[in-house]
Amino acid sequence: MSTKLVPSLCPYCAVGCGMYLVVEKGKAIGVEYMTDHPACEGALCPKGNSVLEFLNHEDRLKYPMKRVGDEFVRISWDEALDMAAHGLARNIKKNGPQSIGFLASSRCNNEENYLMQKLARFLGSPNVDNCARLCHSPTVVGLGAVLGTGAMTNNLIDLQNSKCIFAIGTNFTEAHPIVSRWAQKAKDNGATIIVADPRITSTSWMADLHLRIKPGSDIDLLRGMMKVIIDEGLADKKFIDERTEGYPELALNLKDFTLEKASELTDVPAAEIARAARIYAKSSSSALLYSMGITQHVCGTDNVKACATLSLLAGQIGRPGAGVWPMRGQNNVQGNCDMGGMAEFYPGYKKASDPKSIEFFKAAWKVDDLPMGPGLTSTEMTDAALEGKITAMYLIGEDPVVCEANINKTKAALDNLDFLIVQEIFMTATARMADLVLPAAAWAEKDGSYTSMERRVQWIDQAVPPVGEAKEGLWIINEIGKRLGLDLGGTSARDVLTEVNRNVPQYAGMTFERISKVGGLRWPCPDEKHPGTDILHKERFSTPDGRAKMASVLNKPAGERTSEDYPILLSTGRIVVHYNSGSMTQRCTSLRERDSELYVEINPADAAPLKISHGDMVKVKTVRGEAEARARISEKVKPGMAFMPFHWQGTNIITSDAIDPVSKIPEYKMAACRIETIA
Ligand code: SF4
Repeated sequence: MSTKLVPSLCPYCAVGCGMYLVVEKGKAIGVEYMTDHPACEGALCPKGNSVLEFLNHEDRLKYPMKRVGDEFVRISWDEALDMAAHGLARNIKKNGPQSIGFLASSRCNNEENYLMQKLARFLGSPNVDNCARLCHSPTVVGLGAVLGTGAMTNNLIDLQNSKCIFAIGTNFTEAHPIVSRWAQKAKDNGATIIVADPRITSTSWMADLHLRIKPGSDIDLLRGMMKVIIDEGLADKKFIDERTEGYPELALNLKDFTLEKASELTDVPAAEIARAARIYAKSSSSALLYSMGITQHVCGTDNVKACATLSLLAGQIGRPGAGVWPMRGQNNVQGNCDMGGMAEFYPGYKKASDPKSIEFFKAAWKVDDLPMGPGLTSTEMTDAALEGKITAMYLIGEDPVVCEANINKTKAALDNLDFLIVQEIFMTATARMADLVLPAAAWAEKDGSYTSMERRVQWIDQAVPPVGEAKEGLWIINEIGKRLGLDLGGTSARDVLTEVNRNVPQYAGMTFERISKVGGLRWPCPDEKHPGTDILHKERFSTPDGRAKMASVLNKPAGERTSEDYPILLSTGRIVVHYNSGSMTQRCTSLRERDSELYVEINPADAAPLKISHGDMVKVKTVRGEAEARARISEKVKPGMAFMPFHWQGTNIITSDAIDPVSKIPEYKMAACRIETIA
């Protein structure tokens, strides 16, 4: 009996850890560590170690199904594909191509996402988006505006070269556990770790200095630090003069701002803000890490711009150990955006609103017409579906009925559609609302490339055949296209990658042969001789004139404030053993054993007058609805604040759908709630 080791990747978060799957008789039976993988050196977190529990789970979708009344009925692939094509065609005929919405998947590979956005645009719809809208769209537009590229500037292992790590709005030890390996190495080498977070977290336990800021005061803290840096002559004048624009405006923006004011706005003692600023600016190489604590606000884009501007002001960018590290969420959210699965961009971040992009892709794809964008974002599609402007949707690997903010609204929107296709590996809450459910191959059951948060593009081969009648996403999208009279090009992932090499400049040199080696290559990689790029912006920024654009921003009030009726501010986030909507991790016994139910952290000072004890079931209510959760009485949250993990549906029933007007991300981090005991 032959057992083989097939190189693979962890299908969960965007760290992109490598692993081997042990395959015997066409079945994955074990995971082995890939000790020569450059991002993880063989380490895996609890999720990575448990991937087979969901891959081989009996709940996997195994055949296509259509809705008949309240039931789902098994159908053949022929019937399913005909139904998909007819449903889309019917809505295009009746309401026009703009009535169709597409969600590409950050869990799927680059080739599937490239083909998905091509299908949308070939059909004349500009409305294609992905879950980056809910996590890091402010990174794409905010870092893009300041630095010219909306992606991590350095690589993960380069963190060990940092002498200061400033982590704001990221609990990376839980959300991206393997990153702590590199942060700890930096600490062992003498780095100072500063964490800005309202909560006490496992990341703040690593910190030399924990700035327990008031929720929503990130810009005030960053401006306070910038003020200290300017006033104490710590700004890197040479770097600013030679490589940036916007310093005079920034100095003016901060002229009347004081450290005392920053302290009052953030609840952080002035001396701590000053200490953080000095350490960050004076160290020989400072890293700035951030995640959804920064992005998921109505001022998410400005928060990101302020982070990038701080790094420019101190000249802490473009060198080993110095840069900006956005901690992206899903395993291929970076790649999905790179492939054009975003309403604002065609592949390679060619602006959908620029006629030159349209001309480029008309020539590349040999078509007469393509839609100008920007199209509707996923959050805008929800509103458009409620208004009857979007009447059909095709979703792959996305679960908005758990992941969007204010999901009662999302449910009503999906309910209002004439036709909904969901392509998935499990019967998710969103799939349960579909007219047609298409069973998809999971990551180990197909070929393709994935791009991690550090711009690392890695190819994996199919390790095992798909379960039951499940099919690879490429095959499904191509077959639907064919039935709509479209030739989408490549039928194999390798063919599509070759097209990506031609049409996405950052990926031009990333051929199959090159990215199928352990660790792949990091973009930009403009030709087949190019070694890939470890550190961006070493000599010039990727703006048209090569200079970074410092941003002068002011904080904005949250979309929702606490009140007498809703006196507690609710924030949400990840925990180490679960992943996004929980559709995969909650099927893994080893993970569920560690955390199996929704909970809410409440400060003892808030719990006592409400007569809530640790372990009680409580109701958490906002103006949008209510969720039941187990109370955890804890000093981890400040008085007046509560925290819930978002891996259970209850959480996003109550989160706020107030939107950042630039990136259109919802403000998950700031909902006013009240907590009641359950009688
Ligand atoms: Fe997987 Fe992320 Fe954990 Fe690595 S850190 S094993 S990629 S979930």
